[in-house]
Amino acid sequence: MDTAENTQTLLDGADLLIDALKLNGINHIYGLPGIPITDLTRRAQAAGMRMISFRHEQNAGNAAAIAGFLTQKPGICLTVSAPGFLNGLNALANATTNCFPMILISGSSEREIVDLQQGDYEEMDQLAIAKPLAKAAYRVLHIDDIGVGIARAIRAAVSGRPGGVYLDLPAKVFAQTIEAQAGKNTLIKVVDPAPRQIPAPEAVTRALDLLKSAKRPLIILGKGAAYAQADADIRALVEKTGIPYLPMSMAKGLLPDTHPQSASAARSYVLPEADVVMVIGARLNWLLSHGKGKTWGGKSSKDWGGQKFVQIDISPQEADSNVRIDAPVVGDIGSCVAAMLNGINASGGNWPKPSGDWLGAIEDRKSKNVAKMAETLAKNPTPMNFHSALNVVRDVVKANPDAMLVNEGANALDFTRSIVDMYKPRKRIDVGTWGVMGIGMGFAVAAAVETGLPVIAVEGDSAFGFSGMEVETICRYNLPVCVVIFNNNGVYKGTDVNAGGGADVAPTVFVKNARYDKIIEAFGGVGVHAITPAELRAAMEQAVRSRKPTLINAVIDETAGTESGRITSLNPKAAKK
Ligand code: ADP
Repeated sequence: MDTAENTQTLLDGADLLIDALKLNGINHIYGLPGIPITDLTRRAQAAGMRMISFRHEQNAGNAAAIAGFLTQKPGICLTVSAPGFLNGLNALANATTNCFPMILISGSSEREIVDLQQGDYEEMDQLAIAKPLAKAAYRVLHIDDIGVGIARAIRAAVSGRPGGVYLDLPAKVFAQTIEAQAGKNTLIKVVDPAPRQIPAPEAVTRALDLLKSAKRPLIILGKGAAYAQADADIRALVEKTGIPYLPMSMAKGLLPDTHPQSASAARSYVLPEADVVMVIGARLNWLLSHGKGKTWGGKSSKDWGGQKFVQIDISPQEADSNVRIDAPVVGDIGSCVAAMLNGINASGGNWPKPSGDWLGAIEDRKSKNVAKMAETLAKNPTPMNFHSALNVVRDVVKANPDAMLVNEGANALDFTRSIVDMYKPRKRIDVGTWGVMGIGMGFAVAAAVETGLPVIAVEGDSAFGFSGMEVETICRYNLPVCVVIFNNNGVYKGTDVNAGGGADVAPTVFVKNARYDKIIEAFGGVGVHAITPAELRAAMEQAVRSRKPTLINAVIDETAGTESGRITSLNPKAAKK
């Protein structure tokens, strides 16, 4: 054989990595090129993969994580070594915390030099650092282990409770070569990466018996239920039992927020009053006041409110993490909900509907709160406040129920969550379990890339700053993203003063009357400066219709907003005021 033929029959590590991903149906990479992965990014694109290049790895990582949530396939984030890896790590930790399946693949330096700490280019023991923040972490040292490495990473990311996985690839693996057929033989197409986990029949019976005994039952739907894509069965379970339900933030739209059984507008009434609560794909963490305390009718913050709980979750360790779970149902939500429905159907028409007293009391609170909110939304102050601006967003989302809604901020988050109704599953993606800032533009990019649908990102002016440079990415890929910045001149609000009396502004205050809309104009997108609700409405409607990258600087009264939004109680100083 001559030399030319010889090279043609060889594959290198980069070839094999691309083949391994494609073999497993993974066609998108979110990342940022640089040493040692620049050529890999080019070759992925040449091989027909969609390589979305970001301006900062954290945003690429957040994009990968939410791609995983939306598709049930692990989202891939690709970074350079040490600093790029560390930037991506923030998103990996957030993915693990939120149960989003993603794989962070980072190039790394020479093992021999790193381990002897001899000072290699970007030297860092990345595997050791990733381990505590990931569901699993692996390193591949030889080209013929790439197939196994990818297979293990996929399984770890999507099976059981999903999470973030780290895969370490030292630079030299990319350059190693293997004869083409031998290389292909090392690849693994993962069979059944997220196996169904069927609940035990006695666990289902126990749960149904407890539910049946309830006088004031309640269902809580979490983002695990949204992730599971068991939408029709979840809706049937809620409707057949007639039980009122509360959606957690990212479970909004699993049933339309306008559904008569939604108890969202009576949340503070139903939590303490319910006697049996069925939690589906949600953890009883801080977002649910740990299932106890005053929110739940307890006398003090540690006190149990007396509720009994059914909890449906794929993780067998989740039950009893905060309060006693009387009927844990362990399995994947699709299988668990189907089993519960079978049990209910088996009872013929005899499933007891919740009492009229319970439903009536909820309806009472709901209608009062809805009427109060309608009054607030109808006001038209100048400048706009959160409510008058969100009245517009609410209408635009209602008219475009397929659009994706990204949401982050403090007040911009809290008000949007409660005011903007969602109509379809997995349309609302937000700050999640940590209430983290910085997911905005990464989520917006991935939502557009994965769904092809228009994306509306409602951003606090502070939150936007964490990922704002990705506006260039949005323009570069011409994505149908409309960013709406609620600009009230600062963190929480723009009116704080420097307590020391010096020339610097207060730590929470930004440049007054900033024109965020100019940022997107620099990259060829549409910038709009909206002062009135009518201007905001026209700009949003136009953005959704045209699918052009758009950034609307919505001017909000700088006195509007409370410190830490709705979680003021967690902020020691503000709570004392
Ligand atoms: P939220 O923030 O909406 O309350 P969490 O992230 O706290 O939701 O909880 C999600 C829960 O859903 C986790 O406990 C996770 O184990 C569970 N989960 C995720 N995917 C599935 C699935 N496919 N089947 C069952 N449970 C799941």
